[in-house]
Amino acid sequence: MTTSAAYITLDEQWGAHNYHPLPVVVARAEGAHVTDVEGRRYLDFLSGYSALNFGHRHPALVAAAHEQLDRLTLTSRAFHNDQFGAFCRDLAELTGTDMVLTMNTGAEAVESAIKVARKWAYEVKGVAFDSAEIIVATNNFHGRTTTIVSFSDDPIAHDNYGPFTPGFVMVPFGDAQAVRDAIGPNTAAVLMEPIQGEAGVVVPPEGFWADLRAACDENDVLLIADEVQSGLARTGELLALDHEGVRADLYTLGKALGGGIVPVSAVVGRGDVLGVLKPGQHGSTFGGNPLACAVGSAVVELLRTGEFQERSRKLGEHLHRRLGDMVGHGVAEVRGRGLWAGVDIEPTHKTGREVSMALRDEGVLCKETHLRTLRVAPPLVITEDELDQALDALERALDA
Ligand code: PMP
Repeated sequence: MTTSAAYITLDEQWGAHNYHPLPVVVARAEGAHVTDVEGRRYLDFLSGYSALNFGHRHPALVAAAHEQLDRLTLTSRAFHNDQFGAFCRDLAELTGTDMVLTMNTGAEAVESAIKVARKWAYEVKGVAFDSAEIIVATNNFHGRTTTIVSFSDDPIAHDNYGPFTPGFVMVPFGDAQAVRDAIGPNTAAVLMEPIQGEAGVVVPPEGFWADLRAACDENDVLLIADEVQSGLARTGELLALDHEGVRADLYTLGKALGGGIVPVSAVVGRGDVLGVLKPGQHGSTFGGNPLACAVGSAVVELLRTGEFQERSRKLGEHLHRRLGDMVGHGVAEVRGRGLWAGVDIEPTHKTGREVSMALRDEGVLCKETHLRTLRVAPPLVITEDELDQALDALERALDA
């Protein structure tokens, strides 16, 4: 048997060093559990950064993938396929939107939304050519492409990747007045995460999004919600913005849209906005492929029942109650919504990495974001008992 150490050596020798994984080598997984190459079982407390909202290898999703694998996997959009249209219809109906633009990764969805917003600004709003602006937030995370990192204020994501794409204006996250002050005649859109995931699950002040909506309406500006991480039941609603009673003009979706099986992302929203794209003006070889659409349709089917939203709401209350009790006992602050939490570890205490390592030894896989924040995002199929096991382990890990 090859040991974990041997696999890790292989990774480090041949894989680019753009990640710093926890030293655990996963070989199998099911539901909320993963098993490493040595047969140790762990509870997954990260869910592939929310790509595994339905757990590992959800039977309905695996069945949809198998069935499609046996029939047709790729056509490119040069031809129609028998999965694409129904997936777009189902996703649009689920999200209460008019139109779906399919891509693969979250970053591609965001790039696509940026392109659409700019095109809309020139062709519909009448912004002067090449001068459209998009307002973004401090501490944002929208992906890793050169345009997206151009408007990141995180030095690790941003530095040494210039020259950068212009046309972005940054304001403090959660400050609606700053957005209003930043809006000018060239503003095409406001692009923000409803809850900032990578920043540490940061929830903006109540009313922030309603203010943004009003500011956008008053100024003919598009409101774009990046729900790649926060969407699809993670927070206890289909979309995190649903908690605010606010509708965006465009939403970017990804991660869980592919059920943890294939990369599937989309921009969904107003037909008159996405409608600025005409044949040949945007695309992707893999976007909207039949395998992605078959899995995506099965994901939509799971979300339609509301069962996962309900689990996230109920279990989320329990999670936040218990995490709240840890404040003052190694934990400085807890934020989040539903089965999603940013847990700040007290500055005098361990780093996020140290707590993640101690948790691994306890059989729970979690990962820090930034130095002192743990991001807790268990699969929504986790049971209350399993959640308690993991939280007991967290208490011990903080103590250890
Ligand atoms: N937007 C948000 C809000 C994200 O959290 C992420 C990924 N963490 C992305 C976009 C990028 O997604 P991907 O890694 O699939 O490109």
